[in-house]
Amino acid sequence: MEIRILGAHNVESANTRLTSLLVDGMLAVDVGSLTSSLTFTEQQKVSSILLTHSHYDHIRDLAAVALNTSYVRKTVEVYSQAITLNAILNNIFNDVVYPDFTKRPAERPALKFHTLELHKVADVGGYKVLPLLVKHAVPAVGYEISSKEGKSFFFSGDSGPGLSSCWEHISPQLLIIDVTMSNGLEEHAIPSGHLTPRLLGEELKQFKKVKGYLPPVVIIHISALFERQIREEAKQLAKELGAKITVGHEGMKLKV
Ligand SMILES: [Zn+2]
Ligand SMILES: [Zn+2]
Repeated sequence: MEIRILGAHNVESANTRLTSLLVDGMLAVDVGSLTSSLTFTEQQKVSSILLTHSHYDHIRDLAAVALNTSYVRKTVEVYSQAITLNAILNNIFNDVVYPDFTKRPAERPALKFHTLELHKVADVGGYKVLPLLVKHAVPAVGYEISSKEGKSFFFSGDSGPGLSSCWEHISPQLLIIDVTMSNGLEEHAIPSGHLTPRLLGEELKQFKKVKGYLPPVVIIHISALFERQIREEAKQLAKELGAKITVGHEGMKLKV
């Protein structure tokens, strides 16, 4: 499986993009920067989209996906919890902000929404996907995504402390985790449902305890303002845990 990080930040600028991953060019996980990162040809290869939660920085490009797809007479399959899909339907595809592309074009709607159940493995575009509840400001899930070859990775989406409740259910070869703020901002990170390097360390210690190993970790959803500090703290944490912890960036390609 090849995972390409399209957006590794929670803030957008000329140099940073909103959170989005692309698996084998076909499966998108969050679409904060899907259309803004891909050519039209690349976009047409994306057949399925998984959404972790309804926050704008994770769904921003879904409206653009819908319009682009409507022109090529295709349907993109979109998967998430019912509460997340309903929030998107009611607030974006409500025929006010944008047309309801789950009904347009009438002969072949651009988007088809599919509801995922927590803790229930689903087949999404040929991958096995396990949605697990994480702690965030709105209902949110992380996903373990496994290929037919038995390779897998876990993406936390946005999550605060308590991520370790997921560990007993998964055995991934790679962790991609939200670290939005630096250690000094822990009091802001916790109520908004995000991690700092120190809080990540606590979750990773639990992973090792529960699973008996620790896979490589890539951190994303970085707030650019604190990026230098996060890099230093992540380096320290890697040393302390004897772990491989890398700071993700736009264009980064990961293999599992
Ligand atoms: Zn969020
Ligand atoms: Zn976010």
